[in-house]
Amino acid sequence: MNFAKVSEKQMHLLRWFLAIGWLVLITSLFYDPISAYLTEPHQLFGPKSADTCFEFQGQCYPLVPYPLGAKIFWGMVVPLSIITLLVFGHEVWRRICPLSFFSQIPRAMGWQQKRTIQENSWLYRNHLYLQSFLLFLGLNIRLLLVNSDRFLLGVFLLLTIFSAITVGFLYDGKTWCHYFCPMAPVQTIYSEPSGLLSSEAHTTPSRSITQSMCRTTNESGSEKSTCVGCKSACMDIDAENSYWSKIERPDQKLLRYAYLGLAIGFYLYFGLYSGNWNFLAAGVWNETNHLSTLFAPGFYINGQALPIPKILAVPLTLSLSSGITYILGLRIEKAYKRHNQKLKRPLSLKQINHRLFTLFSFAAFNSLFFLGVYPTLGWLPWIGQQLLSWGALLASILWLVKVWQRSKKRYLKERDGNLLRRQLQKLEINLSRHLDGRSLNELKTDELYALAKLLPDFSNSHRLQLYSDTIKEALEQRRVTISRSLEAFQSLRQELEISKAEHWKLIERICQDNTKLFAVNLGQISDTEVTLISPLNPNAAQADITVKRPFSQVKTERIADLNSPNSPTIKPTKSEIEPTVRRSDSTRNQTKENKKR
Ligand code: SF4
Repeated sequence: MNFAKVSEKQMHLLRWFLAIGWLVLITSLFYDPISAYLTEPHQLFGPKSADTCFEFQGQCYPLVPYPLGAKIFWGMVVPLSIITLLVFGHEVWRRICPLSFFSQIPRAMGWQQKRTIQENSWLYRNHLYLQSFLLFLGLNIRLLLVNSDRFLLGVFLLLTIFSAITVGFLYDGKTWCHYFCPMAPVQTIYSEPSGLLSSEAHTTPSRSITQSMCRTTNESGSEKSTCVGCKSACMDIDAENSYWSKIERPDQKLLRYAYLGLAIGFYLYFGLYSGNWNFLAAGVWNETNHLSTLFAPGFYINGQALPIPKILAVPLTLSLSSGITYILGLRIEKAYKRHNQKLKRPLSLKQINHRLFTLFSFAAFNSLFFLGVYPTLGWLPWIGQQLLSWGALLASILWLVKVWQRSKKRYLKERDGNLLRRQLQKLEINLSRHLDGRSLNELKTDELYALAKLLPDFSNSHRLQLYSDTIKEALEQRRVTISRSLEAFQSLRQELEISKAEHWKLIERICQDNTKLFAVNLGQISDTEVTLISPLNPNAAQADITVKRPFSQVKTERIADLNSPNSPTIKPTKSEIEPTVRRSDSTRNQTKENKKR
């Protein structure tokens, strides 16, 4: 099933349902006279006998009934959201996430100030470090304060919702999700390059609304994009594109290698703290009064309480465990690269990173499930526990197999093949006599390339037209930005024998010929120096384009250089490739209207 196609109306209802459910759960954290009944002896979540106790730091404490709010949130909602991410991908989660829904309230009410994160800002460059730190901080706060203290958990969740609404009030698009949300790094770990059942954005028809792309339903009932370009290579538009665009960045390595240790250390701490490896299965939701335990012994090992206060023991454990897997990840990566160099057909560095990221995510998911979730399933009948456990393992293995086979090269080939197929269909050339009874849709990407090159009536102008239309379509769909187009279309360019200089000339022509489509963003879109007016606004008034330094003015000798097979990689600088657009008032007003929408 393609979840991107589930109607926005249905998803909107589901979002309301989940958001209200979450608010009810938060309310129950402050006042809940009912659910403690279910934790009494012999009840669904209660112990099997009235005199059962749980062991904590060498002593046995009675299992007194407790309201279920914290157990439902940490023991069911959070694990379920992680399983949803791995199985259905972010395209489902991002459309139903209550926190994302709350962050959009100011926009829906028309209060949003519509600021944007600038490409050169600190936040743009470092948001993943910030979000990873917030995740680390959140896990510390959970272990120290809010794991079973229901009042503090309620306050913590309300503060989180308040933060999401504040960011949604100040900034446009899904800025909360992309730049601040501490769960976003977890989403990238399990949903990039794809969830088990995620749809493919890069092979969809032109102008599709893909994955969890921002959208709305208009009066006629059809859906339209409301994308304002708050993030380049946006995960909501195409998660796999987002993944490959940043795979070699150090922040990705830190997150993906350290997260495994974070997950393991988090659950191990329950044992290190209580001295009881069954603590998670027994009394973890009963151990309240966290504030009073902050300076009590934080470790109880081999029957001995160590004189390290819990307030230090928790960050120490999480820092050590995440630090160990981070260093381990870097070492394995180095060794893999060395080994790879000795082979005759080495993998690309991106592919090595990809394989290690995939293995670490697989290990993190199973650590999380078998160390953290499985021990808390005791209330389910035996068969339910087995089904869930084997189901989770199977889902993660299928995910591993699916994701392991992906590569950037394969992704680009599929994407280019899809674009190429559509452009070939538009050419006024009789293709049927070259297809041996097959249709264009049946041809594989390699066959499409071969067809494009070998067609006897495929002239030089056809070749350039095909390439130009392909790029234009990708730009329109925000799959690529102008500054990255040279690299992004490298394989197609080579297959069609298009030089770098020809590429930049075509880009220039696209910008000049499509002033209704491309205009400089109002100073916001990260690396997308040229943004799209259409299709949100197909009737926008003509923008008044001034190319600051036209591509044609790139010095002739440089173009000659670029054509030389031995030429170094010369890429025009941003000032060379950025058209400066002075917009007419009507265009500016129209764009503002788009943003409001
Ligand atoms: S870039 Fe567009 S689709 Fe992606 S989150 Fe921002 S507004 Fe939504």
